Formats: sequence, C-alpha cells, structure tokens
Amino acid sequence: MNELFRQIPKVDRFLKDEELLKLLDDNPLFFLKEAVNRVLEELREGIREGKVKEIDYESLRAKVREKLKELLRPKLHRVINATGVVLHTNLGRAPIGKKAAQNLLSVITGYSNLEYDLEEGKRGLRYRNLEWILKELTGAEDVCVVNNNAGAVLLVLSALAKGKEVIVSRGELIEIGGSFRIPDVMAQSGAILREVGTTNKTHLRDYERAINENTGLLLKVHTSNYKILGFTHSVSTRELVELGRRYGIPVYEDLGSGSFIDVRKLGLSYEPTVQEVLKAGVDVVSFSGDKLLGGAQAGIILGKKEFIERIKKHPLNRALRIDKMTLAVLEATLRCYLDEKLALRELPVWRLLSQSREEIFNKARELIRELRLEGFKGKATIVEDEAEVGGGALPLQTLPTYCVAVEVEGLSPDEIDRKMRRCEVPVIGRIKEGMYLIDMLTVFEEEIPVIAKSLLKISGEE
Ligand SMILES: *Cc1c(COP(=O)(O)O)cnc(C)c1O
Repeated sequence: MNELFRQIPKVDRFLKDEELLKLLDDNPLFFLKEAVNRVLEELREGIREGKVKEIDYESLRAKVREKLKELLRPKLHRVINATGVVLHTNLGRAPIGKKAAQNLLSVITGYSNLEYDLEEGKRGLRYRNLEWILKELTGAEDVCVVNNNAGAVLLVLSALAKGKEVIVSRGELIEIGGSFRIPDVMAQSGAILREVGTTNKTHLRDYERAINENTGLLLKVHTSNYKILGFTHSVSTRELVELGRRYGIPVYEDLGSGSFIDVRKLGLSYEPTVQEVLKAGVDVVSFSGDKLLGGAQAGIILGKKEFIERIKKHPLNRALRIDKMTLAVLEATLRCYLDEKLALRELPVWRLLSQSREEIFNKARELIRELRLEGFKGKATIVEDEAEVGGGALPLQTLPTYCVAVEVEGLSPDEIDRKMRRCEVPVIGRIKEGMYLIDMLTVFEEEIPVIAKSLLKISGEE
C-alpha cells in the first residue's frame, strides 16, 4: 500500500501538463488544482480501501480532464426542457427570442444610453424606451416596470392602499410558488386585507357591503394556478370597475401571466388579455414579464396616469428597479408584438404553444431516426400524452403532445432520468406510469441531436 502511495504523481505534473492547460484555456488555475485534488483524493481513498492495484498517469489525467470540464462549466447553464411544461419556473420560465438575445448582448458588452438622452446630451429617463411601446400596444395612459410581478403587487398596494382597506374575494386569496401569498404581501405593504364572499362564490353585493370610508382599493387577483369549478360565482372585471366608479375607489387587477395575444386563437381556453382588462376600465393592472409575455423577469404595471404617477414616486419603485439587461430583453420582446404574426413566430413561448400536432410528431420521429442511425441499443417509441402551459397560466388546459418513451436495458426509469440530468447538457424529462418520457412539445429542433447523443451515451455505460 505504501508503495502505491509513493507512486501517486505530484500535483505539479498535472499543473504543467500541456493538454490540461490547453483545456483550462483562459480560466483560473484554481479549477485545474481543484480537479487534480479531487481526483487524487479519490485515488488515495481507493488505495486505502484496497481497490486500486496500480497507478497510471494517463488514466488519472483522463479523470482530471473530465472533472475539469465539469468544473469549468458555470453552475447556471443551459438545460433541455423535455418536461412538456412550457413555462417551467424551475427551468427559467420563458426562453427569450433571438432578437432579444442579440439586443441584450450588444447592450451589455459595451456602454449604453440607459439613462442618457442622446438628443439633449444629458441625463435621460431609464424607462422611456418601454413606455411608448407599452402604451402603443395596450392603450395604457402610463407605465411602470419593476423587478417582478410579486414586487409589482407589493408596490401597488403600498403606494395606493397603505393603512387602508383592500377588498378581495375569498376565492382569490392565492398562493403561488415561492411563498407568495396575497394576505402576506398585503400585510407587508401596510394595507389591510378585507376578505369578502366565500371560497366558491363572491357577489358584487359582497364587495359593495364591505365598502366604507377607509376603503382604499378593490383588488382582483387572477386565479392563475387553480380553478374553482362547480357551484361558483365571481365578479367580472367590468362589474368591479363599475362599482369602483360609483364609490370613487380605484380598481387594481393582478393579472399574473398577462398575455397580449388572445390564446383562443391557438385553440386554448379563454384567458383575459392585458388589453381587454385595460379596456374594461381597471385603474391599474400588473403582470409578469417572463410568463406568457415571453420576455425577462419583470413586473409590468399599466394604468391611469394619476395612479401610476403615485406608484412611480413611491420609494419601493427605486428599490425594485430593473437593470439594463431586463430593459434590453423586454424592449426587443415587446417590439415583436407590434406584429402579432411576428410575435408568434419569433418568441419561443408562442412558437412552442402554436405548434401543430404534426410538427411535434415530426420532432419525435426525428429523434427516433437519429437514435436508429447511431445504433441506439435501447428502445424508443412514440407515445401520445398531454403537456401543459405552466407558469400560472391556463391551469386546467392540457396541450396534446407526443413523447418519446425510452427504455434502456438494466436501467430503471429513475436511473435513466438521473443519468440524463447529469449529461453535459442536462435533459429534464418526466416519468409517467413507470415510463421515462421525453416530451417533444418543449424540445427545440436543434436540441434533438443533443438528446440523441446523451441517450446513446447513457445506454452505452455500464
Ligand atoms: C406569477 C404571479 C405572480 C408573481 O409574479 P412573479 O413575476 O413571479 O413575481 C403574482 N400574481 C399572480 C396572480 C401570478 O400568477
């Protein structure tokens, strides 16, 4: 055993190894040292346990190379979404379009006119590039954009209803992922929650009876991740607006996902659009930038000038402000909506949602063809299934899809799943009824060869 320990190569030998240094490229030497240390530590352990019988530099170098590759990849990296959930919050919600990505790169790799007025040659306004376009698209009088929609809700409540009562239906006291709960946000803002109605039924008269001299706001929250079915009643935006007008109380709708496109055009069930809600007369509406909008994480607040001005002046607005990366992505994304057909084509979220069944089927067939061509030893078959929109939009809507069900001898579905998650470009599929599925609805064409390569790799391992 001591003889083996003596044979362990010196760390320096690896650190001077031309091949490893080439792989390290222009990255900190830290990563190579770390890779070597981890491999040598494993080796010592192997020797102690009597598992290592001989030591050869070449095979150690191969291990260091693999470890180094792994360490050099940033911890946040691309994955392939084969879950069939289009807006998957854990997988980064909306992928952005090519135009947005190009604009982002150009803005952030140099300086920009973020807060600089090129006409006047002096300080300008950060949000002016989004203002005109959001007004143009929605007809809103004024605009405010913050870090995310949860922030937008907090800001609107703080600015318009601190110390005042906010009337909300009991059927709309939502919790969405990440501990965002309307009653908690309300408490944080200093507004007083005034619940009305019941879980399944809330009538206009319930709101009306709760109005008093300290009512600050009527709030409507889009029930984005659940539906109450059966014996139900809720008050429409239009009715609430009419009530607000009568009593001189502003109406705010948290729309959640917020779409500019009527999803019924894609054969999906009805979701109100941002334009519709504004047209119904709400004073303020807010929604996310990275759900159905298909842009960057942001909370977009639109509405009547007198209220938006108060919101903009609130100190929280500065605390929740967005950076140039978000602005660059949002502007390029929003521009697409000036031509709806372009938005459907250019923005990945809409491209995925508007695929025909045939297109999805063809992607599945392409994956199988690729696997056959390369001599895949496992079994891959096309199965019909259901995908979903996700991201707090259309909770009950399922999307017809095709999946490739994969079986590999000697591997359980869970093991396939784990191995696929650990590939160089991780593939996140799903397991249903004991089958490992790759849902082709959320897979992009160019990802098919990458998935095929990973499947070949995991089926070739022992
Ligand atoms: C998603 C959602 C939010 C939170 O939006 P983020 O942009 O994730 O902060 C708030 N309200 C509703 C109704 C939502 O669906």
